[in-house]
Amino acid sequence: MKLPIENRKYSTEITADDDGEHVSIAGWVHEKRDLGGVFFLIVRDREGFAQVTLHKRKVDKELFERAKKVPRESVVAIEGIVKSEQKAPNEYEIIPERIEVLSVASHVLPLDTTGKVGAELDTRLDARFMDVRTERTKHIFIIRSRVLKAIRDFLDERGFIEINTPKIVSAATEGGTALFPITYFEREAFLNQSPQLYKQMLIASGLDKVCEIAPIFRAEEHDTTKHLNEATSIDVEVAFVSNETVMQLLEELIALVYSMVAAYPGLDSFNLDFKIPKTPFRRITYDEAIDVLLERGEQIEWGEDLSTSAEHILGKTIGEHYFITDWPRAIKPFYAQPIEGKDTCDAFDLMHPRLELASGSQRVHSYELLKANIESKGLSADSFEFYLNAFRYGMPPHAGWGLGVERLLMSMLGLDNVREVVLFPRDRRRLVP
Ligand code: ATP
Ligand code: MG
Repeated sequence: MKLPIENRKYSTEITADDDGEHVSIAGWVHEKRDLGGVFFLIVRDREGFAQVTLHKRKVDKELFERAKKVPRESVVAIEGIVKSEQKAPNEYEIIPERIEVLSVASHVLPLDTTGKVGAELDTRLDARFMDVRTERTKHIFIIRSRVLKAIRDFLDERGFIEINTPKIVSAATEGGTALFPITYFEREAFLNQSPQLYKQMLIASGLDKVCEIAPIFRAEEHDTTKHLNEATSIDVEVAFVSNETVMQLLEELIALVYSMVAAYPGLDSFNLDFKIPKTPFRRITYDEAIDVLLERGEQIEWGEDLSTSAEHILGKTIGEHYFITDWPRAIKPFYAQPIEGKDTCDAFDLMHPRLELASGSQRVHSYELLKANIESKGLSADSFEFYLNAFRYGMPPHAGWGLGVERLLMSMLGLDNVREVVLFPRDRRRLVP
């Protein structure tokens, strides 16, 4: 049986032109305003707000009292007549004939949904369902949804095939980060840190251009504002192309996402000087980055990875989005293609002025070189047999990258903490909700 409210309208679907029409809406009681002779209920739905106006002398007494008593954030369904009203949201009000309280909210609320009283991030995350009722947080997750859709469309238009690789894996790891062990029947297994090895194996399958948007798991111990223990990665891998081609793909994708978000009306909630980055992004080598850092007095030696403070100094100096290329082999994974005659490799990081957004490289596609690289990192080639096998029977040259969805959103929206863009973030302390 259909509920009578299923033909309800969103608050934004009604306008002053509907004056005199009979409508029904449903949503949460956002605010109540008592002016004595007139009582206003501001009802909030996903799209916006509607003002429900009750004149004490004109309306049924019982209805008036019920409206006054309904606690804020209760869920209500309203039926009534539209009246044009310049001062109300969307320039109309509803004169109610029926008010049905579908769910009564407790009187003490964990958060203020009007945004007038701010709350700590922890408090907001503890009551996330409530936090998403505030305008700004709601917009974050609508933007997140649209960004993911735009990225899927972008990759689809360019001929990518979306794949799903396993998140439960055996011991072999690309290194660089700690893994979460799990019990897999009689054996130990791990949550995958990235789809890297599997997406490369699929290059040998002939699928040619593959992408995956999926969770990655990393046992990052430190409590930082840019690390999650469960993040979402956009991964691509492309056969028969060079590093430069996948870097162009990445900068095009970033520019497209920015221009799409620039047109999103809810962007006002973020107080941003929102600029669409210009392509091509600047490219500097690792060597050049080290020179900049040394000039700025940063303690760093050639061969070391960039610390957060180094990233900040570079960001301040270079600004905008930029690539760092030609990294020392020692600090990049075994699958990055070495540059002949040097101790660097064909790897790149995409940097935002505040942090790293993506990492990628030209991949080693020679079985012998890959095996030697794995061993030179002190890893056992045997445990990588499942991966190495894919390189023995016809593996094209290929390149690819992984881009963190949360880092992209956080940097784009000027947010200080990566947890802001995850509905239910996982970090060292947070496993619930
Ligand atoms: P960082 O050095 O900043 O910790 P990383 O080099 O370890 O990152 P990669 O292994 O290169 O990360 O992963 C590719 C991308 O995935 C990163 O550029 C980042 O956008 C995202 N990413 C990686 N780890 C995390 C994490 N713990 N939380 C959020 N995003 C992450
Ligand atoms: Mg990286």
